[in-house]
Formats: sequence, C-alpha cells, structure tokens
Amino acid sequence: MSYFDSVRIVLVNSTHPGNIGGAARAIKNMGLSRLYLVAPRDFPADRAVWRAANAVDVLDNAIVVENLDEAIAGCGLVVGTSARGRRIPWPLLNPRECGERVWLEAAHHDVAIVFGREDRGLTNEELQKCNYHVHIPSNPEYSSLNLAAAVQVLCYEVRMASLSAAQSESPPLPDWDLPPARAEDLELYFQHLEQALVDLGFHDRENPRQTMTRLRRLYGRIRMDEMELSILRGVLTSIQNAVHRMQRVLQKKTD
Ligand code: SAH
Repeated sequence: MSYFDSVRIVLVNSTHPGNIGGAARAIKNMGLSRLYLVAPRDFPADRAVWRAANAVDVLDNAIVVENLDEAIAGCGLVVGTSARGRRIPWPLLNPRECGERVWLEAAHHDVAIVFGREDRGLTNEELQKCNYHVHIPSNPEYSSLNLAAAVQVLCYEVRMASLSAAQSESPPLPDWDLPPARAEDLELYFQHLEQALVDLGFHDRENPRQTMTRLRRLYGRIRMDEMELSILRGVLTSIQNAVHRMQRVLQKKTD
C-alpha cells in the first residue's frame, strides 16, 4: 500500500455533481485515490462521471457517508480548508506546509483534507473538528476558488511533498512514540469533557459562550496521543465520581 492511500479527500454536502467529478479527476491526476462524500446533494450523477473523465474509478470507489464524523473516523490528522478567516482563528498552514504535513503523517496514519459547500464552505462546528486549517492565499478581493480547483491545489501540494521526500536521502523518522488520538476518540473526549464541566458547575450548556471552542483549540494545539487521551478520560471520570459522591452526601444532609 502506498502512503497516497492513507490520504482521504472529504467533500462536505457538495451541491454540484460536476465538482465531485472534477475533484475525482484532480485526486487521480495527483496520485491519490480516496474520495469521501458527506451527504452529497446529487450523487451518483452523469455530470460527475462526465467531469471525472478517466477518473471514474475514483467516483466508483467513493465512500458516501451521512456526516463529517463518519468521514474522518480513524484519522490521526484532519485538515480543514477555508476560503475566509473565522472569528476564532485556528492553527493555520499554507498549502505547501499542508502538503508536507499530510505526506509526513500519511506514513503513520490516515489523514483527511476536508472541503466545504460551494455556497458557504464548512460550518464553524465542522472546522473545529480539524487539527489545522489551510487557506489558499488567493486574491483577497475574490478569495473563493471553485471547489474542484481548491481540491486540485491541495492534492498538487501533497504530490510535490511526496516527490521531494522521494529525493531526500533519509525519510523523516516518526517523531513520537505513540499514535495520535483518532478523530472519533477526540470527539468522545470533548463530549466527556463538556459533561464533566457541566457536572462541576463550570459550564452552562444554555449559555456556552466560546468555552468548548476554545478548549478544542487548546487541545488541538497539543495533538494528544492515544495514551494521553485515555489518561485524561480517566481523570474526567474520577472528577465526575467525586462530584456525584459529594452531591449524594449533600442530598442526604438535606433529606
Ligand atoms: N463561499 C464559501 C466558499 C466556498 S468555496 C465561503 O465563503 O466559505 C468551496 C470550498 O472550496 C471551500 O469550503 C473550501 O473547501 C474550498 N476553497 C475555496 N477557496 C479556498 C481558499 N482560498 N482556500 C482554501 N480553501 C478554499
């Protein structure tokens, strides 16, 4: 299996099947193969096949899922693309750095590059599931590329990174002793963390402000490994048990 097979291109809620076909072609041209479609508006479709040209196999093997969590399950690195800045900035890569990071990590685990809707991109909630954001430094006065064109640019950078890695004498060594936490385990962790903060009385779901977003960003900067995540889940469970014990004692006193 080649490292290219570890890279997933994820298109979220694409509206135009032509863009799905164009993305499939870009993927195959650059040596990648895995396409994930999150609830596409119109797929399968003749227009997608027409635009895919000789990359129909990428369309045939595309995996259609209901939501982003399913598309990134099993990934150790998730990169979200965005045509514009968001209110709470996230760790940002340029397309070249994105290609290099994706290629480096694809040797160790699955990686996803996530693309948004033609009309409004990715939601903040979707972007917050990503370790990094990448912005193609386009004309600030007209910054939004066609979806398939954006896929082309980022797949090209992965290819360039693979070519320069092939030329360098020694491949980069893995830089950590344990695998990074997977996207689905991180999602469970954030649900657990939120519940523990509610139990503690620190966090109010009715008035969340940006607490969970900022905590997601904090943990995202650390890139926790599997073991660290499982220790933190144990800590949360102990905190919850202590809170519940205390609540029971207080309840008894008032009875
Ligand atoms: N109007 C939307 C842009 C959607 S373009 C918005 O304001 O967000 C469709 C998708 O193409 C985007 O979600 C993103 O995945 C990708 N894309 C387009 N231009 C991009 C850019 N300059 N940098 C990174 N991704 C871009």
